[in-house]
Amino acid sequence: MPRSVRLMLYVLLILAGAVIAATLAMHQAQRHALEDDAEQSRDRLALYANTLQTLIERYRALPAVLALDPQLRAALAGPVSADTTQALNLKLEQINGAAQSSTLELLDRNGLAVGASNWRLPSSYVGHNYGFRPYFTQTRATGVGRFYAVGVTSGIPGYFLSNAVRDEAGQFIGAMVVKLEFPDLEHTWAQNDDLLLVSDAKGIVFIANQPGWRYRALRALTDQDRAELASTRQYDKQPLTPLSQEPLRTFGENSHLSRVDAPNEQADFLWQSMLLPTEGWTLHLLRKPQTASEDVRNAGLAAAGIWLTLVFLGLFLYQRWRLGRVRQRSREELERLVEERTRDLQTAQDGLVQSTKLAALGQMSAALAHEINQPLTAQRMQLATLRLLLEHGRVDDAHKAMSLLDQQLTRMAALTGHLKTFARKSPSGLRERLDLATVVDQALLLLDARIREERVSCVLDLTRPAWVRGDAIRLEQVLINLMRNALDAMGDKPLKRLEIRIDATGEHWCLSVIDSGGGIAHEHLANVFDPFFTTKPVGDGLGLGLAVSFAIVHELGGRLSAENVNNGARFFFCLTQAPEADAPC
Ligand code: ADP
Repeated sequence: MPRSVRLMLYVLLILAGAVIAATLAMHQAQRHALEDDAEQSRDRLALYANTLQTLIERYRALPAVLALDPQLRAALAGPVSADTTQALNLKLEQINGAAQSSTLELLDRNGLAVGASNWRLPSSYVGHNYGFRPYFTQTRATGVGRFYAVGVTSGIPGYFLSNAVRDEAGQFIGAMVVKLEFPDLEHTWAQNDDLLLVSDAKGIVFIANQPGWRYRALRALTDQDRAELASTRQYDKQPLTPLSQEPLRTFGENSHLSRVDAPNEQADFLWQSMLLPTEGWTLHLLRKPQTASEDVRNAGLAAAGIWLTLVFLGLFLYQRWRLGRVRQRSREELERLVEERTRDLQTAQDGLVQSTKLAALGQMSAALAHEINQPLTAQRMQLATLRLLLEHGRVDDAHKAMSLLDQQLTRMAALTGHLKTFARKSPSGLRERLDLATVVDQALLLLDARIREERVSCVLDLTRPAWVRGDAIRLEQVLINLMRNALDAMGDKPLKRLEIRIDATGEHWCLSVIDSGGGIAHEHLANVFDPFFTTKPVGDGLGLGLAVSFAIVHELGGRLSAENVNNGARFFFCLTQAPEADAPC
């Protein structure tokens, strides 16, 4: 998968995570908000229920008290005359005014209204029979009755509370009824934003503080319900259309979120109910939930923020961990490489020292052969001459010839002596006390033949003794390399001047080899100490001399350097002076 696509996928995943976190948090916050709302609704509902109960309680005792009134009981004892009715009407009217109930009426044993407080109104109850009303039948059967219904005569709904009127013998002779209407209550409740409903046992709403909600059935009516309603004419001719509702979420008993086909709109309501056991009614409080409130939005934003912070923190830590691992790995790799290279270099250096030694040996053999052959031939001739001189008794001349022979033998012994030193394997790290000037002498001795042959003028400015600590054979090897290079450089030059100096500088002895060979080309100055760097024709130079010399001087604690001077090159190095007091080598 291409990198850009993968990156895009990661970004999308992170964003999707943020959206999910925000949604979950908002959902949770909304649920909390709804639960809080439900809790509040429960408290308010209890308050409303209390108001309603108090209102009813205030009138509950009224019919019972009036049922004991001797005048009313006397009136029901026998047939009721017009005068009695009038007297009853006036009395009930008076009591009704004082008690502030809606209507008071007195029914005889058959349910006929024989007196009513509203006798003056066209909707007067007087003369109407209410024997079919449940409150009457209940009263006749049990002594008390209560029933909410729309007035058959007045068309005004109300709560009928009734009590049996009995004669001296305790026989049922009629019912005292008080009707309560709730317009004031509905009016007071209407001031609220909350929607308040009261439904009866069949689920029919009969009190509502907002228009359009009254006489709606909260659940489907059975045939039996309908038959009962028809016989009691409880809600008279009201259509009782069902109110469809779909519960969305429940918050414990009697508390849920519902989608309701409200009279004007379809809306979600937080629906809280409470049973009023005495009346068999249910009080409902409906509230519109606070959707997407500030808190909910903030919760969503906070969750998304936390999610993103966590993701970026995770990414940051992961990146750091990965970087650490990569660094660790590359460090290990580097260490391994350095070790490998050091080993390789060590091997190469050992090899180089060895091969330069071999090369030097080869050259030395050639020089020796050259050096030794000539004197040997001369000596043979001198021996023959000596023999002749002795045969002729020329002793003095023989003596002279012998001293010449002696000289040459001494020189050959010197050469082989040097060879012996060279052949000795130098243990690495050897630090003998030696005189640098003597080392120069030895090297010069080895190259003497070539110097003379090429007519090189040697200028020596050596401080003697110049004590240092080191390995004589290896230092001699360095000097031979430097001098041989100088001779090579001056090979075709008309002026051949080789200068070797030993100077004291501070704590050091500095040895310089200066020639007149034209110097080192500027672009080569940085490379002359590189192994295998050579400007000499193939077969003449290996390019190892300076590299090995550099290594040897370095090992002894010095640094071999090169520079151009006048018409040639200067190679030099310095070594720490060894104390004078040491015993001589
Ligand atoms: P080689 O002598 O086999 O070439 P060296 O390591 O001894 O190897 O020298 C490397 C190169 O340094 C020589 O090829 C030469 O170009 C340069 N060089 C060394 N000494 C001198 C010198 N005295 N003057 C000029 N060039 C020099």
